[in-house]
Amino acid sequence: MGFNCLKCPGYCCSHSRIAVSEHDIVRLARHFDVTPQKAKERFTYHYKTKEVDEQILRHHKDHIYKSICRFFDRDERRCTVYEARPNVCRKYPYGNKCGYYEFLKFERAHQDDEEYVPDA
Ligand code: SF4
Ligand code: SF4
Repeated sequence: MGFNCLKCPGYCCSHSRIAVSEHDIVRLARHFDVTPQKAKERFTYHYKTKEVDEQILRHHKDHIYKSICRFFDRDERRCTVYEARPNVCRKYPYGNKCGYYEFLKFERAHQDDEEYVPDA
């Protein structure tokens, strides 16, 4: 594997539109023991433009990336619903490489600072 999420502050979870399916919502509902309708209202919102019609995970403020998925623990820098996370989170970054991690590694080597987080 060409990337290590444990060394990354969770950039992928800060994407502004993390779309979920009805199946993802049912899985989250089961995890929190609430109805799918309740989970949909509490955890997601409807995003619609001419090109896009999606149900998106809500965010909360973050000190590193401005905002991040509401399920992200901002101190521990990890997902709090890992077992019940949506499909898109399971698949990301779709292969053995993560473009952001490459960028992070390069910048950290350049700054000679293992903790450095560049502006994304
Ligand atoms: S951006 Fe890449 S390295 Fe960072 S948490 Fe996401 S998949 Fe892992
Ligand atoms: S559900 Fe978990 S893995 Fe998916 S974006 Fe939110 S914090 Fe990240």
